[in-house]
Amino acid sequence: MHNIEPTTLWSQTVERLRSEIGEDADLWLRPIEALRIDDQVLHLKVPNKFFSDGIKDRYQKRLVSIFKDLTGLDIGIDYEICIDLTNRLPPTDPIPGPIPQSEFPLSEFNPRYTFASFVVGKSNRLAYATADVISKNPGTQYNPFFLYGGVGLGKTHLLHAIGNALRQGFPRSRVLYTTAEEFVNDYINSIHHRKTDDFRAKYRNLDCLLIDDIQFLIAKEQSEQEFFHTFNSLFDSRHQIVITSDRVPKEMTPHERRLVSRFEWGQVADITPPDLETRIAILRKKSELEQFYVPDDVILFVASTVKSNIRLLEGSLIRLKAFASMTGSSLTVDGAKDILKDSLPHDVASTVQMETIQRMVSHKYSLDIKDLKGQQRTASIALPRQLAMYLASIMTDLSSTDIGRAFGGRDHTTVLHSRKKIQKLLDEDPFFLELVNKLQADIKSVEN
Ligand code: ADP
Ligand code: MG
Repeated sequence: MHNIEPTTLWSQTVERLRSEIGEDADLWLRPIEALRIDDQVLHLKVPNKFFSDGIKDRYQKRLVSIFKDLTGLDIGIDYEICIDLTNRLPPTDPIPGPIPQSEFPLSEFNPRYTFASFVVGKSNRLAYATADVISKNPGTQYNPFFLYGGVGLGKTHLLHAIGNALRQGFPRSRVLYTTAEEFVNDYINSIHHRKTDDFRAKYRNLDCLLIDDIQFLIAKEQSEQEFFHTFNSLFDSRHQIVITSDRVPKEMTPHERRLVSRFEWGQVADITPPDLETRIAILRKKSELEQFYVPDDVILFVASTVKSNIRLLEGSLIRLKAFASMTGSSLTVDGAKDILKDSLPHDVASTVQMETIQRMVSHKYSLDIKDLKGQQRTASIALPRQLAMYLASIMTDLSSTDIGRAFGGRDHTTVLHSRKKIQKLLDEDPFFLELVNKLQADIKSVEN
């Protein structure tokens, strides 16, 4: 026992764990120091209880068994909280300067969605790299570019980043961002007003078409056909097309089957939910952009809790900031837990029952579940209905087709439309965001 050096034992153990688990383990273990070994207990110095609890939950068992492997002894762990360990988390990239004013006041690109403000990690590296090449050399290497992934993971951000960069690099180029929904509406209007020639002139004379959420267009027979021709026309003249979707081409069932193979002609890349390290980097970057200082342990707490959606990460940060500026007090992990307790998505990834969602939403808005499934379109019913569909699409594993069915046999495009509408509201209205976060927490707690 005498010859076991605590720091050596600890560093070898961390080394072993890192090779098993990867960098996530590192983020937890790097700020920890081994102090001493007494009576077969290794004393570890941790920055706060959040760390000791986190390590106990995640790694304690494995740590003890590695000790046993390395020394042949049953060595326990004790934690000593010392608050002087700070800034041990990995640094992020330097922050870009203030966002330059666009020379094009009419630009439809969101100036906040740039490559510089996009944090790159394993989950989005290929998507980012492809988008970056396209913004420098449109229409050449990666055409079309088909980008897919779940809600709130940065697809729209990347489309706008391409648009912003093209506007800068090729000021005279004709670049259009549109959603598939707008495309459909525009097309229908053009038929209605007998202006399909104008419609075609608009969409086929572009250097780059950025079209978001293409799933909305699928199975809308005529619009799909029109898009097929738009695609061919742009592609044949070597103009860039970038398409996003919530699923891979193969999972789509358009009437025009050839669309699926067209989508696969160029580069296909996905964005998956970010890993812990990327979530930390995103929170860092956003807090710096917001000029709002958040201590590392609070960042780690939020990043470990909110996993599957970057929009929710941002929402948490906004709440913390609002609270901190109201009270003027500095943030701690316990404070953050308290502030966020009603709104944290108790792991959005695990699923709940559709029934519960419908019940809780109708309760919240004093409606009957029948109303959610019915046909009435008054705003007081339509919004809760859309909200319930939105929640069903993020909190259950059901497809939009199944969700539509559970709401009185609606079409899956109605579900997608609702989702989009609610997302927009969430983006614009922090009070609504708070309401929805609370509702989500309530739904979860009823189920557990
Ligand atoms: P999607 O279109 O995939 O649903 P968005 O592009 O709307 O997602 O992203 C949701 C929010 O998260 C946006 O505010 C966006 O700026 C932010 N976001 C997503 N990915 C990143 C990233 N990698 N770095 C920084 N912010 C991100
Ligand atoms: Mg989007």
